[in-house]
Amino acid sequence: MAEYTPMMKQYFEIKKQYPDTILMFRLGDFYEMFFDDAKTASNELELVLTGRDCGQEERAPMCGVPYHAADSYIAKLVSRGYKVAVCEQTEDPALAKGIVKRDVTRVITPGTVIESTMLDESKNNYLGCICVKGEKIGVGFADVSTGKVSASEFALKGGSKDVINELGKFMPKEVLINSEVLKLTDVTDYIKYKLDNATCELSDDEKFDEHFAQDLLKKHFDDEQIIAASQNKAAACAVAAMLDYLSAVQKNDLQNIRKIDFYAEDSFMNLDISALRNLEITETLRSREKRGSLLWVLDKAKTSMGKRMLRSWIERPLLNIGGITKRHNAVKELTDSPLLCDDIISLLDGCQDLERLITRISYSNANARELRALSFTLKRMPEIKEKLSPCKCDLLKSTGAGIKPLESLTELIDKAIVDEPPLTVREGGMIQEGFNAELDELRDIVKNGKGYLADIQLREQERTGIKKLKIGYNRVFGYYIEVSNSFKELVPDDYIRKQTLVNCERYITQELKELESKVLGAQERIAGLEYEIFDKIREKAAENLNDIQQNANCVATLDVLCSFAKTATANNYVCPEMNAGTEIVIKEGRHPVVEKMIDYPFVPNDTVLDNTENLCAIITGPNMAGKSTYMRQVALICLMAQAGSFVPAQSARLCIVDGIFTRIGASDDLASGSSTFMVEMSEVADILKTATSKSLIIFDEIGRGTSTYDGMSIAQAVLEYAADKRKIGAKTLFATHYHELTELESKIPGVKNYNIAVKKRGDNITFLRRIIPGCADGSYGVEVAKLAGVPNTVVERAKVILKDIVSLSGRPIIFEDKSNSDDDQLSFANGETDAVREKLESIDINTLTPIESMQILYELISMI
Ligand code: ATP
Repeated sequence: MAEYTPMMKQYFEIKKQYPDTILMFRLGDFYEMFFDDAKTASNELELVLTGRDCGQEERAPMCGVPYHAADSYIAKLVSRGYKVAVCEQTEDPALAKGIVKRDVTRVITPGTVIESTMLDESKNNYLGCICVKGEKIGVGFADVSTGKVSASEFALKGGSKDVINELGKFMPKEVLINSEVLKLTDVTDYIKYKLDNATCELSDDEKFDEHFAQDLLKKHFDDEQIIAASQNKAAACAVAAMLDYLSAVQKNDLQNIRKIDFYAEDSFMNLDISALRNLEITETLRSREKRGSLLWVLDKAKTSMGKRMLRSWIERPLLNIGGITKRHNAVKELTDSPLLCDDIISLLDGCQDLERLITRISYSNANARELRALSFTLKRMPEIKEKLSPCKCDLLKSTGAGIKPLESLTELIDKAIVDEPPLTVREGGMIQEGFNAELDELRDIVKNGKGYLADIQLREQERTGIKKLKIGYNRVFGYYIEVSNSFKELVPDDYIRKQTLVNCERYITQELKELESKVLGAQERIAGLEYEIFDKIREKAAENLNDIQQNANCVATLDVLCSFAKTATANNYVCPEMNAGTEIVIKEGRHPVVEKMIDYPFVPNDTVLDNTENLCAIITGPNMAGKSTYMRQVALICLMAQAGSFVPAQSARLCIVDGIFTRIGASDDLASGSSTFMVEMSEVADILKTATSKSLIIFDEIGRGTSTYDGMSIAQAVLEYAADKRKIGAKTLFATHYHELTELESKIPGVKNYNIAVKKRGDNITFLRRIIPGCADGSYGVEVAKLAGVPNTVVERAKVILKDIVSLSGRPIIFEDKSNSDDDQLSFANGETDAVREKLESIDINTLTPIESMQILYELISMI
C-alpha cells in the first residue's frame, strides 16, 4: 500500500488527539476538513465535497472554508452539537523547513464558547457536570464566557429530581458525567430530550476522583474559602472535572474563573422545571417566546450583564428575608428618585459586556476593538460611582462602593489604541501615532520611503554627474542604481555591480541596501510591533481581571434594580411588605403579563392565604372565567417579591414561600414514553413528595386525564393530602370543574371555596373576573363552546345530552375520609374491602417508585 503524503501523516497525527471533533486544518488561506469530517461538514454547512491527493490511489474527501469567514461556519457546527478543533500553522510557512508545523490552538464546543458572535448576550452559556459519588450527586455549571461557576450536591436517595431541576434552570449546552450517572436514566434522558440539542458526554472516572479534585482546586484557587467549601466532595469533584475539561479545551489556565458559588439546596426558592414552564417565567409555554413571559415584562435592562442577572434573579428567587428587603429598598430608592434612576440608566445604556470582554482579554482572544469597548465602558464607572454616592440604602451604597474606576487603564488604552481599530490584530492599524517611537519611525519610512529614494537619486546624479542615473526595483535584486553603458566610466568606486544588461549596468550601494531593508522590512515589522504593543496592553488589562469582574457585577446589579424600578413605576406596582410569618394578603392583585397582553381593563382580585383558616382555596367557575390567571398571578406575585421586584397589586403582605409547585394543564411527554395522564400523575407525585408547609401549590384541574370518577377521586385524595398538616399542610390553590369537591369546605379544616363570578342571562354569560367566596353553580362548558363558535346544532345537541346525563346519574357522592385522625390507620374489617387488603398486602413498599405509588393509590381508591 502506498504511503500517505507527509502532510496527511501530520493530519492523522493531530486528528488522533482530537477524535471526537471536526478538525479544521489550516492550509494557506483555508481551513480544510478531510475524510468523515469533510462528509459531515459538507452536509451540515452545504459545502462542496472535493478531494485531495493524499498519496493513496483514492483521493481524500475534502471540503474547506476560507479562514477569515471560519467563525460563522464554526458557530453553525457548534450550535448543532459538534465540537470543532481549529488547527493552525504554528510557524511562518516562509521560514519552515519541510512541512509547516501545525497544532490545535483551540477547541470550540457547545458549552465552552467564548466568541461573542456565537453567544446569546442575554443568556449564560453553561457547561454542566454531574457525578455520583457515594451517597451524593454533585452538580456543577460553568459559564466560561463570564467566569461564573456554581456547584451544589444532593442526596442520591432523593432521586434524580433535584438534578433535573438544576439542569432545567441552568440549561447547559453540554454535560459531562461520570459512569455512575449512566444508571440515572431519567437524568440522561432529560439531557438528551429536553435540553435543546445538549450533548451528554461520559468522562473518565479518574477525572472525578476526590484527590484529583482537591489538588486541582488547591492549585487553581488561592482562596481559603473555596478550598474549605470544596470539602463538599461530590460538588468539588464535579467542579474539578469541569475545570479540567475547560482548560484542555481552552488551552489556557482559566484565569477568569476566580470564584465558585457552592450553593446550598435551600438558598433559593424551590422552583422546579414544571413551575418555571407553567408560570411562563422566561418563555411562553406554547411558542417558547420571551414575549408573553414574566421576563418580557420585567426586563428593561440596558446591558447584557444586567439581562443575564435579571434572568437569574427571577429563576432563583431568594429565601432570605434580609436579602429580599435589601433589593426592595434599593428599588424603592430608585422609584422615589426618578431623576437619579434615569441618570443611571443613561450611563448604563451602551455599556459593553465587561464579563465577556475580560474573559476574551484574559484568554488573549480579544482584538483592539474589544479593548476600546472595555475602555469606553470603564470610563462610565467613575460617573456611575459618583451618582450612587448620595444613595442611602445598603445595596445601592455597597454597589457604588464596589465600583473600581480603573482610570489609568482606560487612559493607557485610549492613548495606545486608535479610535476605530480593525478587527484583525496581526495586520497593524491599531496603535495611535505618538505612542511608540520605533513604530512612528517605521511608519515614517513606509510613508516617506519613495521620497527618500528620490533624494538619493538626485544626490547620486549630482555626485557622479550622471544625469540619466536612476533608481529602480526588481524582486530579485531589490533596489538598484541603473547606469547606461555610455556613462560607465563615471561610476564611483563605492558602487557594487549586481547585474549587467545589454545597454546598462545595475549597482547597489551601502546606503541603498540599508534603506531597502528598512522600507521593505518596515511594513512587516510594523504589523509585528503593533501586535507586540497591543498584546502588552491586553495583558495590562488582564491584570485588572478581578476589578473588572467586580465592576461587571456592580453594573449588572444596578441594571436589574433600575429595570425593576422602571417596570414598577410604569406598571403601577407596589413594594411588598415581607413578613417572617405565614400570611399572604394581597389586595387588588393583578397578573403582570395578562394585564399587558389584553386590550381591555384587567380586573384585580384579593387573596388571603395562611396556614390556619385559609390554607386551601378550591376555586370553581366557568371555563374561561379566569381561574388559571388568578392562581398564576398569586404565584407570580410571590415569586416577583422574592426576586426583589415590586408587585402588581394595591398592597401585598407576603411571607417567604420556600417553593412554588404547579400542576397545570395537559402535557404529553411522548419523547420519553409517558402519556398525558402518566405525566400528570408523576408531577403530582413529585409535588406531594417535595412540598412543605411553607410552599405554595397550584393545582389546576388535576385528574382530568382519566375517567370522571377516577379523576375526581384522585383530585380529592390529593387535596386532602396537601391540606393535611401532618402530611404537608401547604398553601394550596386548587381549581377544579369537579363541583362536588366544594363539599370539602365543611369537611377539611382550612379549606375555603371561591368562585369566579359570571353574570348569566338566558343562554349568555358575561365574565366578571371577580373572585368571590362560595362555589360556582356550574361550568357553563356548553355556553363557552357556543361563545367559541362551535356549530349551533352541536351546542343544542350537547344541551340535550347534558340534561339526560344529569337526570340519570344525579351527582356523584363525595367520599368522606373515615380514617382515624389520630393513628391514621384504615379499618378493613368488612368483606367489601378484602380485595383492598389483599392488594395492600401484596405491596413491597421498598421497591415502589413514586409513580407506581400513585397508580396503586388510584387503583385502591377505585376499588373502594
Ligand atoms: P378554563 O377553565 O377553561 O381553563 P380559566 O377559568 O382557567 O378557564 P383563564 O385561562 O384564567 O380561565 O382566563 C381566560 C382569559 O380570561 C385569559 O386569557 C384572560 O384574557 C382573561 N382574564 C382572566 N382573568 C382576567 C382578569 N382578572 N381580568 C381581565 N381578564 C381576565
